[in-house]
Amino acid sequence: MKIISNNNLNFGWDLRTHLHITEHALDDNDTLSRKEKRMIARFSQMPDLIEKEIEDVNAAHFYDPLHEDPSYGTKNDDVNNAMSKFLYHTEEAMNKLKLDADTDKKREEFIREVGYAVHYLQDASTPPHTEAGNYAQKLFRLPMHINFECGLGVGTSWKLDKLKANHTPEELPFSTLKMLFHNTALFTVQEENKVKYKNLGRWPEIQQRCYDRGVNASKAYLDYILQYLPQEPKQIDYMA
Ligand SMILES: [Zn+2]
Repeated sequence: MKIISNNNLNFGWDLRTHLHITEHALDDNDTLSRKEKRMIARFSQMPDLIEKEIEDVNAAHFYDPLHEDPSYGTKNDDVNNAMSKFLYHTEEAMNKLKLDADTDKKREEFIREVGYAVHYLQDASTPPHTEAGNYAQKLFRLPMHINFECGLGVGTSWKLDKLKANHTPEELPFSTLKMLFHNTALFTVQEENKVKYKNLGRWPEIQQRCYDRGVNASKAYLDYILQYLPQEPKQIDYMA
């Protein structure tokens, strides 16, 4: 679903795709309850719905890894792009650990920020979000962008069960979160992942590769960041 809000066209993986990728990435995570897994997946949909996250002509959902300035927005300030949003929400998640609040509250706030952050990492795994181009070019390519991600019959969102069933897991080692993000965008922008109407027949394999990367990068990120999840207070047996 694409949403038009406050004159901003909303670009991005279909909302269901974010939910599905996040849930898939959390499949074998054992630090969260089922309810919390659902929460984090829900939060990963939100940046496409919240005005603050959309801001400058949606630039915050794009990242061009091949240019010195990876942002395309009118601000052209090198901070209004998907990587800066990803890092910002990760930092906010870490800030929540310092809240003067009970553990439940801290867990929820932390989970919200992590859910927002992982959204942007997933955006870096879809080719229309990593290709070069200014706003006019992005608008021009929008119908294809939407078709690739959610077009009836041809879009990623219509194949989620199949993509999950055919998923190839891959460990993605990284030394910094910036690197995890940048390498994901570099993977996505490769020639073999270029989305054109001319190669419509190859869309299913491109969608599979990008879905796989989205899940694998999300899992690498979530496994790392959830180490910091505020823990339930331990029961101490004072009588032992
Ligand atoms: Zn997005």
